[in-house]
Amino acid sequence: IGRFWAPINTLAGFYNSLLTAISYLERIFETIDEPVGVRDEPDAIPMPEVAGEVKFSHVSFGYEPGQKILEDINFTAEPGETYAIVGPTGAGKSTIVNLISRFYNVDSGKITIDGIDISKVTLHSLRTQMGIMMQDSFIFAGTIMDNIRYGNRSATDEEVIRAAKTVCAHDFIMEMENGYKTQVNERGSRLSAGQRQLISFARALLADPKILILDEATSSIDTETELLLQKGLNELLKGRTSFIIAHRLSTIKNADCILYVDKGDILERGNHDALMEQKGEYYKLYMSQYDFLK
Ligand code: ADP
Repeated sequence: IGRFWAPINTLAGFYNSLLTAISYLERIFETIDEPVGVRDEPDAIPMPEVAGEVKFSHVSFGYEPGQKILEDINFTAEPGETYAIVGPTGAGKSTIVNLISRFYNVDSGKITIDGIDISKVTLHSLRTQMGIMMQDSFIFAGTIMDNIRYGNRSATDEEVIRAAKTVCAHDFIMEMENGYKTQVNERGSRLSAGQRQLISFARALLADPKILILDEATSSIDTETELLLQKGLNELLKGRTSFIIAHRLSTIKNADCILYVDKGDILERGNHDALMEQKGEYYKLYMSQYDFLK
């Protein structure tokens, strides 16, 4: 099963953007006869409209039988809170967010949303209420307008433009030769990495999920775009419970709670000031990676 998941995970990386990754994976699942890890239980119920409390209670998980990647993870994110997940490569950050969107079932413990065990609800009703944005935003061939509208296909042009304005994408779009009607291709080659992210923010805002999962891209971005991303992201995060595998210092500093993860364990938790005061692992990471950016 590990071998099965590896390419899917890689594909999911390319096919970023909220919901898109999911529907894409669902399409893959539909075409594969082999049973895959996660399916609806026979008595699965639809997830009611979520408020956004996400709770891990004694969650343990491994990708292979007997393997322990996460062990006894506990946290409760209140509706609207932003969680930044940081820690070394291989610490288990992606695994935590994969479990929230139930790409895998937990081995023991449970994950609840608004008190409802996510293993008891239909995958469709769960995932349509989540926005999932992996690294490197997914752009398809079409106009900028179409690319944003992908978040909510019934959105009007005005709604698309309003969303773009809210997340600070409007100005750069208007500077392109045909504005919202400018054609882009799959590789998004006419767009910078930062511009692609702004488009994915607008798309996410239109989709309006209560729970947002974001693997922040690491690509280097000019200072001006960086500021737009910061502002745009702040708008996008309002009123949503968010889990961000965070790389940008501004995101980490603004988070309500930072989870410092290592070897499948949450070693430290708290906001930036609290963790700095603690002078532990987060403090060391900050001093080694970010101090010069202050
Ligand atoms: P991070 O996101 O912090 O870099 P991950 O959650 O991706 O860490 O990985 C945690 C551990 O789980 C690592 O040891 C990694 O090798 C392992 N792992 C990740 N994905 C898979 C998979 N699909 N199958 C088996 N092991 C995996």
